[in-house]
Amino acid sequence: MATAQEILALIKEKDVKFVDVRFTDTRGKWQHVTFDLAAVDEEFLTQGTMFDGSSIAGWKGINESDMLLLPDLSTTFIDPFFAQTTLVITADVLEPTTGQPYDRDPRSIAKAAEAYLKSTGIGDTAFFGPEAEFFIFDNVRFDAGMSGSFYHIDSTEAAWNIGTEYDSGNLGHRPSVKGGYFPVPPIDSAQDIRGEMLAIMGDVGIDPEKHHHEVASAQHELGCKFNTLVKGADNMQIYKYIVHQVAAAYGKTATFMPKPMAGDNGSGMHVHQSIWKAGKPTFAGSGYADLSETALYYIGGIIKHAKALNAFTNSLTNSYKRLIPGFEAPVLLAYSARNRSASCRIPFGNSPKAKRVEVRFPDAGSNPYLAFAAMLMAGLDGIENKIHPGDPSDKDLYHLPPEELKQIPTVCGSLREALASLDADRSFLKKGGVFSDDFINAYIDLKMEEVYAFEHAPHPIEFKMYYSV
Ligand code: GLU
Ligand code: MG
Ligand code: MG
Repeated sequence: MATAQEILALIKEKDVKFVDVRFTDTRGKWQHVTFDLAAVDEEFLTQGTMFDGSSIAGWKGINESDMLLLPDLSTTFIDPFFAQTTLVITADVLEPTTGQPYDRDPRSIAKAAEAYLKSTGIGDTAFFGPEAEFFIFDNVRFDAGMSGSFYHIDSTEAAWNIGTEYDSGNLGHRPSVKGGYFPVPPIDSAQDIRGEMLAIMGDVGIDPEKHHHEVASAQHELGCKFNTLVKGADNMQIYKYIVHQVAAAYGKTATFMPKPMAGDNGSGMHVHQSIWKAGKPTFAGSGYADLSETALYYIGGIIKHAKALNAFTNSLTNSYKRLIPGFEAPVLLAYSARNRSASCRIPFGNSPKAKRVEVRFPDAGSNPYLAFAAMLMAGLDGIENKIHPGDPSDKDLYHLPPEELKQIPTVCGSLREALASLDADRSFLKKGGVFSDDFINAYIDLKMEEVYAFEHAPHPIEFKMYYSV
């Protein structure tokens, strides 16, 4: 943890011109406010600075708008994109009157989840390794006008698959539907873009591991090392920022929208998770797939609360267009060591240190602080109440006979269902005061606005199906 003096010395040494303070709103968008150095001193760094929280969707009313942004001095990096040297610091949002964490600040909720883990004695550290997929398109036009919504995607890679004309670029070399994983260029047209993204991740201090094309045309993934819960969520915000910024620098546009193209794979954010205690992995043992009982109960908690978790891990109306059979996204709430069609996979690996659970239903449209915190709380509830997940499902779950299929619970089918599930199943989140009722209610209200906007607008496919009725 750096001290204020060290940060001030760094500002001098790097000839920093501005300090950019960032925090994450309820929907998961990174927000920022930039300060001239005249405002940045020891007090600014250690006591924080006031801002108007009333304009952040789902936060304070106008009558109580002042909030405190308290910089977390362990989070600094120089923004790799700004023309003027700018130091970025992530902040927590506090109530100015009490100095307590704001109960709707996602990062404070994630910190509270980490503290709750410690208080249970089950472990001292939870590790999270997210794998966020995304698409890079050349151009997207959309418009939600009076006649409903309309969109058009230009993409050299995806043009044939989405049935659009595209008159420039590598016309002869494109991945077909599900053909992107992963032939060399020129079929893969984004090698240099991904390389630059990964290099910049390394520059700002995220441990980069790999990058590759994904299964759908124009779909990609970068791999970075796992981290602790809050740091892992901080890194996801940086990851998304770098992906968007580098794509823009190449004149392209990146999207983490879970299902931008019908008929090809969507983008997930699988999340690898484990709990450690006193430097030892608590998920390694001698049960199924060399898991401990603790790990099995963790899976039991995830599966039991999955429908409520969906409100945080699959937080967009579009999320549920990805969670359908046939595209490597899970539908069934089952677990397996072999099976990518299960919601929880235990990745192959013999080392106890690497023992972890990969939860496959989340997507990167979610707020990583809330999604990770909610999954940890579900897993801990499973451990505390010894919720066994039942037998593993090692068959291909996409092709089970109907009678067997009916026995297995599923993820939610819509954001509306997920929010209703969260409303009904919330006590596991409230343990230790991690999520408050105030926050959960505000979250449901905010997200229901999206449900209404989506449900109330005529859709292009409805014109196709119903115009001539
Ligand atoms: N794109 C798939 C999903 O929606 C995952 C593919 C993979 O296993 O990497 O979850
Ligand atoms: Mg992937
Ligand atoms: Mg994965």
